Amino acid sequence: MKITDIFRQQIRTFSFEFFPPKDEISAVDFGINVGRLMNLHPDFVSVTYGAGGSTQERTFAMVDYLHNKIGLNTVAHYTCVGASKESIQKDFRYLQSIHVKNLMLLRGDPPKGSDRFICHPGGFSYASELINLAKELNLFAIGAGCYPEKHPEAHSFDADISNLKKKVDAGVDFLITQLFFNNQHYFNFVEKARKSGIINRIIPGIIPLTAYSQIRRFTKMSGTDIPAELLDSAESYKDKPEKIYQLGVDFAITQCAELLSNGAPGIHFYTLNKSRAAVDIFETLKHKNLPI
Ligand SMILES: Cc1cc2nc3c(=O)[nH]c(=O)nc-3n(C[C@H](O)[C@H](O)[C@H](O)COP(=O)(O)OP(=O)(O)OC[C@H]3O[C@@H](n4cnc5c(N)ncnc54)[C@H](O)[C@@H]3O)c2cc1C
Repeated sequence: MKITDIFRQQIRTFSFEFFPPKDEISAVDFGINVGRLMNLHPDFVSVTYGAGGSTQERTFAMVDYLHNKIGLNTVAHYTCVGASKESIQKDFRYLQSIHVKNLMLLRGDPPKGSDRFICHPGGFSYASELINLAKELNLFAIGAGCYPEKHPEAHSFDADISNLKKKVDAGVDFLITQLFFNNQHYFNFVEKARKSGIINRIIPGIIPLTAYSQIRRFTKMSGTDIPAELLDSAESYKDKPEKIYQLGVDFAITQCAELLSNGAPGIHFYTLNKSRAAVDIFETLKHKNLPI
C-alpha cells in the first residue's frame, strides 16, 4: 500500500526504521526484533540505504523480505551516492518489479573525511533531482528527509527551508525529520515550513538514547541539541546501564507524548534494529491513552 493511501485513512502513522543486518548473526537478531515489533502493528517500516550505496543488495533484499514475505508496508531508502541516471532508473524498475510502492529519496552524505558531497558524473547533486526522476515514473509514494536543526551544510536555516521547498515541489509526498531531542526545534521548524508553503506531513524521527556510550557519541555529533538534564542524569548513572536505559526510554516517552499532544502526525522510530525500547515506549504511550 502506498503511504499516501494510509494518510487518506489516518491522521497519524507509527513507523520503524531498520538498517540491513551485516552478517548472519545480526540477521537472526533482526528477525527476532522484527517479530517483536510486528506486535505493535506499525503503519509502515523503512530500510536504510548504507553510506555510499554500500548496502544496496542487502537493502533491497531486506525490503523484499519485509514487504513480500512478512507483509509490512515497506519504504525503501535510496540515495544519489555513486549512481548514474541510468543505474537509478534500473534500480527503480527493479524496486517496482518486487512491488515496492514507497521510496525515501535522499542525497546521501559526503564520503568519510570530506565535508563535500561528490556527485557521480552522470548522476545527481541533490535529492530533489532524484525525486524529479522518480516522480516522472509515477509509481511510488515519495518521502524525503528534513532537518529541524538545519542541515549541517546549509548556510542558514532560511536557505535550508527554501531548498526544502524546492525538494517538496519536485514531488515529495511526506517528510521525515532527522532525529532531535528538543521538541521546540521541531515545533519551530514546522511553523517555518508551513510559512514557506510546505503542507506535507512532517513526521518526527525519534531515537531513544539508552546507553551511556550512545549518549556520548550523540553529544559529540555537531548540530544535535541534547537537553542538559538528560546529559546530567546520564553522567550520574554512568556505571548503571539499566538506569541509563530507563532514563532514555522515559525521556523518549515524554518527548513523543508532547509531540503527539501538540499535533505531530505520528512518530517514525529509529530502532537501530532493537525492539526493547520501541516496545516499552509504544506500550506506555498506549496506556497513557495518547493518540497512537
Ligand atoms: C529521515 C532520514 C533518513 C535518511 N536515510 C538515509 C539513508 O538511508 N542512507 C543515507 O546514506 N543517508 C540517509 N539520510 C542522511 C542524508 O543522506 C543526509 O542527511 C544528506 O547529507 C542529505 O540528504 P538530503 O536528502 O536531505 O539532501 P538534500 O535535500 O539534497 O540537501 C542537501 C544539502 O543541499 C542543500 N540543497 C538542497 N537543494 C539545493 C539546491 N537546489 N541548491 C543549493 N543547495 C541545495 C540543502 O539545504 C542541504 O544543505 C537520511 C536522513 C534523514 C533525515
